[in-house]
Amino acid sequence: MVLIQRLRWGSIFTVREEREAFASQIIAWSLLIVLVMATLLAAFIWVAARKADELAIDRQQHLIAIVLEQNFRSVAQDQESSTVWDDSVKQMRARARDLQWMDDNLGIWFHTYFGHDEILIVDGNDNPIYAMREGKRIQVESYARGFGTAATPLIAELRSKMRRGVPVRRASSILTPGAIDLGMVHGHPAIVSVKPIVSDSGEIRQRPGAEYVHVSIRYLDGTFVADLARRYQLAGGQFSATPPVESDASSVPLRTRSGRTIGYFSWDPFRPGTAMLGQLAPALVGALLLVFGIVAWLLYRIRRSTILLGDARTQAQHLADHDALTSLANRALFDKELNRRLAEPSPKLALLYVDLDHFKNVNDHLGHPTGDLLIVALSRILAELAPADVVARVGGDEFAIIHMAADAVASAEKLCRKIHRALARPIDLGQGEVLIGASIGIAIAPTDATDPVDLVRKADIAMYDAKLSGRRRHSFYAEPMGRRIRERGEIETDLRDAMRTGKGLSVVYQPYFEARSGAMVGAEALIRWHHPTRGITLPEQFIPIAEECGLIETLNEWVLEQACVAAARWPSGTVSVNLSPVQLRNPSLAERVFAILKRIRLNPDRLVLEIPEASFLQSNRAARSNLGWLSDIGVQIALDDFGTGYSSFKQMDGFEVDHIKIDQSFIAMIQFGHGGSPVIKAIVDLARSSGLQTTAEGVETEQQRLYLASIGCDMLQGSLLCGPLSAADISARFHAGSDPQTS
Ligand code: C2E
Ligand code: MG
Ligand code: MG
Repeated sequence: MVLIQRLRWGSIFTVREEREAFASQIIAWSLLIVLVMATLLAAFIWVAARKADELAIDRQQHLIAIVLEQNFRSVAQDQESSTVWDDSVKQMRARARDLQWMDDNLGIWFHTYFGHDEILIVDGNDNPIYAMREGKRIQVESYARGFGTAATPLIAELRSKMRRGVPVRRASSILTPGAIDLGMVHGHPAIVSVKPIVSDSGEIRQRPGAEYVHVSIRYLDGTFVADLARRYQLAGGQFSATPPVESDASSVPLRTRSGRTIGYFSWDPFRPGTAMLGQLAPALVGALLLVFGIVAWLLYRIRRSTILLGDARTQAQHLADHDALTSLANRALFDKELNRRLAEPSPKLALLYVDLDHFKNVNDHLGHPTGDLLIVALSRILAELAPADVVARVGGDEFAIIHMAADAVASAEKLCRKIHRALARPIDLGQGEVLIGASIGIAIAPTDATDPVDLVRKADIAMYDAKLSGRRRHSFYAEPMGRRIRERGEIETDLRDAMRTGKGLSVVYQPYFEARSGAMVGAEALIRWHHPTRGITLPEQFIPIAEECGLIETLNEWVLEQACVAAARWPSGTVSVNLSPVQLRNPSLAERVFAILKRIRLNPDRLVLEIPEASFLQSNRAARSNLGWLSDIGVQIALDDFGTGYSSFKQMDGFEVDHIKIDQSFIAMIQFGHGGSPVIKAIVDLARSSGLQTTAEGVETEQQRLYLASIGCDMLQGSLLCGPLSAADISARFHAGSDPQTS
């Protein structure tokens, strides 16, 4: 069963594995595509963020350049608050300058109010007259020593402008010409701005180019940078002599007008793209993971339903092509396979038709579930013996094997032997063992046929031949077989005709005699058929056909009726009628026999029903109930052909058997000069001790008669005593009180 299941699911699993692999591939590809798309999207966002950062940094650099420029200018503007002022000019010209006033208006005040770091005032000859550094007035001499030359070219430039009378742009807020540049002052990068100290009213005249000059220094690395960073929110804004080393810092070089770089203003630029990424990234990653998860889930669901759908389709296909009980190929698949194989160029195959012998008996006696188990067991055996072949169940107990082999005849012969060998052992069905044979018919392609229908027909004919030849064997198709089968078919048709018209069928009666007295005690009804063309046809030739094609019950009932009618006319004696196993299994048999006896008014004790011993052994519940009832109403039961069925007297216990008819094959063993038969003596003795009467059939010689009488056999029947006679002859003999010696 396990193997069958494996056979059944084996192909499904292979297909399923393939489908799963395919679905997994699709899922892997889909996920890869989603992953690539997600990566591309992430890359795109990243590039966009970088671009936004770059643009922002560009703008910041530009802005800072402008801011620096503006801040440079503001130094000059700051200066003008005190340099364009009559009071300042007057203070400069005063013989005794008021240093306190200068602190408050031109020096320290610039530091406290505007944050300028150094102030230097020179007279018209460039002599320093006032100096302030970081909020403290200092000695001009010592200041000038450390001041350097940063302001010198600017003062010269301013004087030149003043001399030339360079006009001041009216639109701007600048009142006087000036010169401004960057430079290093006292080790600080600084804005150096020079302005003339001039009259705001214009009433104090000064020689152009000889004005007092106010030099204002603003360090760039001090509070200036802090202010700038705070005001414009520039994180990490600072000045440095060298460019910043951190890769993410941005910087603007500070160059003097002559192009000399004196340092760099650097800051951590605001990166909107990176900031946006920083804020969006978790949400973006979450969303991507969610999309990824949903896609994966959807694909998983699609994969599952695809596989289930595929499984269902495969299973449906499997069910359509296979037999539900055995899982073997069914007829449809068998036909398909046979057609396909025969369509191949020069096909070489043997088609085996396997039919179980007497499978019906198994069903009738052991029940259909056991029959099913047997079919399954047999299908397993066949599938194991022919693993490379197509094994199909093409009927109830019919199997077909498409056996591909180069030497098809020899190979099929070998396979048949294997099957017979396997069936020689009882088959264990789990709830008992069953011994069953099989008849196998073989047709070879291309020798016998290449057409599938023809090949099947010939394998079927060969199978019938195997059955007719005694079952448990195999036959290769041969031409004469067809004729035999045809003949059989003809017999069936003719028998039906004869039964319908009543022409040619008759019943003869073979008497049996009491062994001791020799008195005729009864006669056995034997059917005869006078065929219109074949002449006398023996029961052996047509009774099995009638049994197989379902005619036997009608036929036997007719014989029974004839026999009862005949016996009713006899003054005494019993009439024996042969029963077929099929009748015995019919639950209504006893009722029907009773009805006939009643109609004909024959006393039931004048009827003996002969049952073949073999069928008695295989009798089912219905058969036994029939026997019980028949016995109850007084009908006698005889076991016919006793000795051929290997039954024991013990098995008869509890059954109303009255007679046993020792088979004629035993009687034939009693031969002249060889004495008697211990087997027959044993049967007779046992029968007597069991209360059964014995009849010897087929008594042909005087020696047999004498021996049988001597061992106590009750009745004798055979050609020695009397052959079959007509009903009228039997009647006449009864009336004459005949005995065999006188007949
Ligand atoms: P059976 O019931 O054992 O019948 C005895 C057979 O032995 C008969 O053959 C009979 O003619 C034959 N016989 C009688 N004496 C001798 C003899 O001395 N030597 C030899 N060699 N044979 C002898 P038959 O009539 O050909 O019947 C053969 C079998 O056919 C019967 O065997 C019985 O099983 C079956 N049969 C005959 N008539 C009927 C019938 O009406 N219904 C059924 N179901 N079966 C029948
Ligand atoms: Mg008989
Ligand atoms: Mg017999």
